[in-house]
Amino acid sequence: MKALVFLEIRDGNIRSASYDAIGAALKVTQDVEFAAFDEPASADFGGKLHLMNTPHFPPKFEAIADFITENKFDIVFLPGTKWGNWLGASLAAALNGAFFANIVDLEDNGFKREILSNKIRALFKPVVSPVVATVRPKSFEYGGELSGKVNVEKIEILANEGVELTETIPREGNEVDITEADIIVAGGRGVGGPEGFKLLRKFAALLNELGYGSVAIGASRAAVDEGWIDHSHQVGQTGKVVSPSVYIACGISGAMQHIAGMNSSKTIIAINKDPQAPIFQYADYGIVGDLFEVIPMMMEKLKG
Ligand SMILES: Cc1cc2nc3c(=O)[nH]c(=O)nc-3n(C[C@H](O)[C@H](O)[C@H](O)COP(=O)(O)OP(=O)(O)OC[C@H]3O[C@@H](n4cnc5c(N)ncnc54)[C@H](O)[C@@H]3O)c2cc1C
Repeated sequence: MKALVFLEIRDGNIRSASYDAIGAALKVTQDVEFAAFDEPASADFGGKLHLMNTPHFPPKFEAIADFITENKFDIVFLPGTKWGNWLGASLAAALNGAFFANIVDLEDNGFKREILSNKIRALFKPVVSPVVATVRPKSFEYGGELSGKVNVEKIEILANEGVELTETIPREGNEVDITEADIIVAGGRGVGGPEGFKLLRKFAALLNELGYGSVAIGASRAAVDEGWIDHSHQVGQTGKVVSPSVYIACGISGAMQHIAGMNSSKTIIAINKDPQAPIFQYADYGIVGDLFEVIPMMMEKLKG
């Protein structure tokens, strides 16, 4: 079994979700090679990196598919980010292969995905090859097994003639992507407006400063629909699915469409002034109270 792992590079750095894809690949084979469209500044692995040079982005998917077929890769892994899911689905179509999006486990020659609003884990087996799978961030671990030197091999890939990338718009600030964060501080309608998110950002900055890991700001759809925060922060069925170590839900009622996006978080803390709020059924720790009183108290306590 030979696997190819696509690495997502942003500003010269490998996005952490790419390492989850490496972790998944190593669960099925030791014969792993890498592909990327930019050369990373550094890498926590060694091996062959196929650096795909294309006259303009996006590449011609059929050209990458030919490369995959010629090099006899049986399976292709990508990070389960927007980029990975877009490229993975396009590649699977060009390869006439199987596609599994956002896998959370590998078992018995099959691919596990969460379905029905993440209520059920289902095992899918491919009936065609090759297989393309995107890996849900934080579902697999890469333990640094592939140490050594990166051998870069440049290959030319034709550009997609039908589409051309004309501009990339950086996200606001230097915010951590919610799918990659160790901790998510999420706000719902209960934060009351864009000002409320300022308090959440202060809380997140403090947690980060105190060394608890990378902290991102999440949101319910209600907060996004109100225009208080950008859709890229939305957690849930029509947002992103996240599994941080700690999810702190502030002023979020716990509608099933929201729960679908965060119930695989390792620890859930809910702050809500309504003791009957459904979010408390899913929380490991629940705090009944006004978030504008509770969060400043937590911050004071953390500052010691
Ligand atoms: C097809 C479909 C897809 C959807 N997809 C998503 C999705 O991806 N993500 C998502 O989140 N939703 C989604 N929804 C919407 C979902 O059904 C809920 O409407 C939404 O999650 C509610 O957001 P909320 O909890 O922020 O708001 P509300 O339900 O209004 O809850 C606000 C909570 O804040 C509490 N509160 C108020 N003030 C305070 C305070 N000062 N301190 C503490 N607590 C306070 C209240 O007690 C309440 O529990 C979807 C709905 C549909 C139909």
